[in-house]
Amino acid sequence: MNKEVTLNKIFLRTFGCQMNEYDSELVRSILEAARYVFVDQETEADIILLNTCAVRENANRKVHGAVHAIRHKLNGKPAFIGVLGCIASHLKEELLRDRNFPIDFIAGPDSYRQLPELIKSVVAGPGACPDTGDDDKKGQPHLVDLSDFETYEDIYPSRQEGVNAWIAVMRGCNNFCSFCVVPYARGRERSRAPGGVVAEARHLSADGYKQVTLLGQNVNSYHFGQTDFCDLLGMVSEVDGIERIRFTSPHPKDTSNTLIEVMAINPKVCKHIHFPLQSGNSRILQIMNRSYTKERYLEIVDHMRAQCPDIAITTDIIIGFPTETDEEFEDTVEVMKKVEFDSAFIFKYSPRKGTLAEKKYLDDVPEEKKTERIVTLNKIQMDHSLKRNEAMIGQTVPILIERIKKEEGVSTAAGRSDGNKLVVVPDQNYQIGDFLTVTVMSASPHLLRAEAIDE
Ligand code: SAH
Ligand code: SF4
Repeated sequence: MNKEVTLNKIFLRTFGCQMNEYDSELVRSILEAARYVFVDQETEADIILLNTCAVRENANRKVHGAVHAIRHKLNGKPAFIGVLGCIASHLKEELLRDRNFPIDFIAGPDSYRQLPELIKSVVAGPGACPDTGDDDKKGQPHLVDLSDFETYEDIYPSRQEGVNAWIAVMRGCNNFCSFCVVPYARGRERSRAPGGVVAEARHLSADGYKQVTLLGQNVNSYHFGQTDFCDLLGMVSEVDGIERIRFTSPHPKDTSNTLIEVMAINPKVCKHIHFPLQSGNSRILQIMNRSYTKERYLEIVDHMRAQCPDIAITTDIIIGFPTETDEEFEDTVEVMKKVEFDSAFIFKYSPRKGTLAEKKYLDDVPEEKKTERIVTLNKIQMDHSLKRNEAMIGQTVPILIERIKKEEGVSTAAGRSDGNKLVVVPDQNYQIGDFLTVTVMSASPHLLRAEAIDE
């Protein structure tokens, strides 16, 4: 019997950001069209795909751990393992050279259209590998070239159930923040035609989705011809049935007054912005290559709050960037105290191979110092998250139900507010995708408890 036909079961696991989640949906769609089927267990699969993230060192470690854990779980059962995504493009040489890393092929984020061919050749055996060109020491197939044009425009991702659908509106990044691997792993910035984005939103609405999240590494630098990101938000908001529009991640340097105005006045655009600070110190921001200062960041936040008082602001912060002194770290504390973020992801700096910071600086902030700083910021953030959530007690807000959970005979429904807060209510036979008006009764740093209002 033909091996290509029998070895068609795929297990796909995704690591990292929402862009990877979206890419995994693209991969599903491409492989389903080529008659592959997806299974829920590694042990049932002929081909195991890991869609990987290279942004931080621990993401990297997770993938290495996962490959070994999978081989252990397979317990000798033959299966081909392929590494997709950012690690494939960023660490190609290492992956192909490392004989202790038991994988069979790699494919970077711009090569997914060729995956069916690649898998076919892997399954058919060594002689059938595509000509991969250069330095593949283990002779393993790899497709890792980055493209200046690929946006997967014509592929409708195969989404799993849910109320939110991601739509990648741009790919890649040109910013070259000195700590960041994304421009190397995902290539140059390119935006999709607005018509394609709107068509995808219409298709999603017809499929029952009520919320879309527009995605890009630097989403507000989207531009296609005369259409900029604010225009795109307006166009998507005209799609009937799409009730909520979110976007992530914007860059402060591309956050215009017009964008803030659109958020303030367009009722479908949610009043939540993930607004990465990275550092509160202007010298560190400069050597991070972030193109804004502490003062400019605070000015934009003030403007947002003036235009849109209910806006929820969340952020990413890196502590322990090379040369960061105690006083400079205090500037980050100060900005946090001024802004009072609704939530924050706080990371220890980890050097990424090939980035400007890795080439120029020693990772000179001691590990204990990094731990001390992250503990300090997490503590401050916990207080702020609680304070911001407590301020909502007594408010009546709409939520979109995304999960129903039964525990010990008690059923609860969980949804998100416009500001992206997790809100839990006693379930009264609600359906996933229902909009519900609730009054907030109590708050913790991570969620709000509420009661539904009879309408
Ligand atoms: N495009 C987004 C961020 C993408 S990466 C932006 O411009 O903000 C997600 C987050 O990972 C970053 O915001 C940053 O806080 C963190 N990060 C990226 N590289 C890192 C590194 N080398 N060390 C620690 N954190 C890092
Ligand atoms: Fe990385 Fe900066 Fe681009 Fe964000 S904007 S993806 S942090 S280079």
